[in-house]
Amino acid sequence: MNHFKKNIARRKIVRGVSQLTSGVSTSDGMDVRLIRFIGSKELNMIDPFLLFDTFNSDQPNDYLGGFPNHPHRGFETVTYLLAGNMRHKDNAGHEGVIKAGGVQWMTAGRGIVHSEMPEQENGLLQGFQLWVNLPASKKYSAPNYQEFKATDIPVEMLPKGGTIRVISGKTDKGTLGVIKNKLTEPLFLDVSLNQDTTFEQEVTSTHAGFIYIVEGSVLIGIDGTEMSKQMLGILGNGNKIKISSKDKSCRFLLIAGKRLNEPVARGGPFVMNTKQEVQQAFQDYEQGRF
Ligand code: FE
Repeated sequence: MNHFKKNIARRKIVRGVSQLTSGVSTSDGMDVRLIRFIGSKELNMIDPFLLFDTFNSDQPNDYLGGFPNHPHRGFETVTYLLAGNMRHKDNAGHEGVIKAGGVQWMTAGRGIVHSEMPEQENGLLQGFQLWVNLPASKKYSAPNYQEFKATDIPVEMLPKGGTIRVISGKTDKGTLGVIKNKLTEPLFLDVSLNQDTTFEQEVTSTHAGFIYIVEGSVLIGIDGTEMSKQMLGILGNGNKIKISSKDKSCRFLLIAGKRLNEPVARGGPFVMNTKQEVQQAFQDYEQGRF
């Protein structure tokens, strides 16, 4: 590699946001109110992310119905809760409660049938569900769980105050997330910034991703695109990100993963590579082969 090429390789290009969205208000499961940011008509996917839902309500009618028994095949579901409790139960006998600050990374693989039911009868339920695609070679892998409570998640303190909760991937300072995933090498950070501070993080160009603002507002990229609460921004090209808080503190999720660049065939709770594989999934489910 000559000197010129070396410099190019090392150059850091700040990623801005190429598209902003406020999502689509909808409901799923048994009338659970949510905002769908990815997996809607407006934004089908950000490879490898197939779906991103947020729920945030203290009205029991908005969440009590929960998500009774339903199947998944071909991808991973990630549940990250900020408030409230969600009981999870599957057809292989796995059961547990995800509590505030906890994460469950479930690899559905060849298939599971599960229910996700709010444990509480009142109070705030706030959280996220993300679907991460599996490469074709792993769509029929055995189901697997990675589950961690709030206190298991590494927290990196930032120099000017603020924190990074490292769910997956590695921060620039080297803090490693609890979730291990070599398939899409996801970066999943929950970042809280004090006012007037700047956060920088490498996000390699092989990874597509997004930023979701949980609280406050931020300025992102070289041009300082403003994003406010409950907005999602798709990362543009480059290999690092730069986000600044404004006059108040803020909190956001930074989520990125390696693009799979494979054909995607979706059918409700099944995400495969071809239509035939989706039909097969429906058949297998109906005939009790999950
Ligand atoms: Fe589910």
